Amino acid sequence: MSERFFVATPVEGNSATLSGAEAHHLTNVLRASVSDLATLFDGSGDEFVARIRRIGKGTVSFDIERRRSIDRESAIALTLAVALPKGDRQRWLIEKSVELGVARLVPLFTQRGVAQPADAALTRLRRGVIEASKQCGRNRLMEIAEPRRLDELKENSRSSLQCLIAHPGGQPISQVKKASTELAEIVAAIGPEGGFTDEELASATSSGWAEISLGPRILRVETAAIAVAAWASLA
Ligand code: SAH
Repeated sequence: MSERFFVATPVEGNSATLSGAEAHHLTNVLRASVSDLATLFDGSGDEFVARIRRIGKGTVSFDIERRRSIDRESAIALTLAVALPKGDRQRWLIEKSVELGVARLVPLFTQRGVAQPADAALTRLRRGVIEASKQCGRNRLMEIAEPRRLDELKENSRSSLQCLIAHPGGQPISQVKKASTELAEIVAAIGPEGGFTDEELASATSSGWAEISLGPRILRVETAAIAVAAWASLA
């Protein structure tokens, strides 16, 4: 079976259990039976070859046959801090960010921001992360962090953190030199449809953020975010 299944509880030892929608999909849609093999992942970075031991009411239990460490992460840990767009554009942003290996997505509070995620929305975004990870083979989940303001993003960060703020007219991103150490970490902020205010830009640049441009056209929030993700994912 080529599909991958997400187990919400970290796998320890030789057994694992699927429940909820994942269990339903495996047994009712794919019609799996006892002794069939499936690939599981728990978001920790490993994946598991597992054999179905028992199919219960709403749960499937497995014997783990093999644990494999398969690292499909990018060399650079990118945090995207994004003033979230709405609805479908938000879903698209999550899916593509996961595919391009973004490590963390922080919904950004901005002065001109509109959509601000409530707890239910964050739960929906995290569900989107799992769906995209199943499909693209990623074994580590992109973190959806609690919403934050720009000035809170550098708190407690290492000095090696590279902070970029996307704004039309900044330095072309192609000229930014990516740090190439093993622990390279970048945080990139993307503003709302109305853009960052002068006050936000002045405060960011005075605390060490570099203004970067993504070309001569004005991009939608999610396009700008994905342009940065694609740039960071290529060595
Ligand atoms: N009206 C706004 C544009 C907002 S576009 C303005 O003129 O500033 C939404 C966000 O996407 C921007 O805040 C910026 O972070 C990013 N963005 C869009 N196009 C960009 C570009 N060409 N270069 C850099 N950032 C861009």
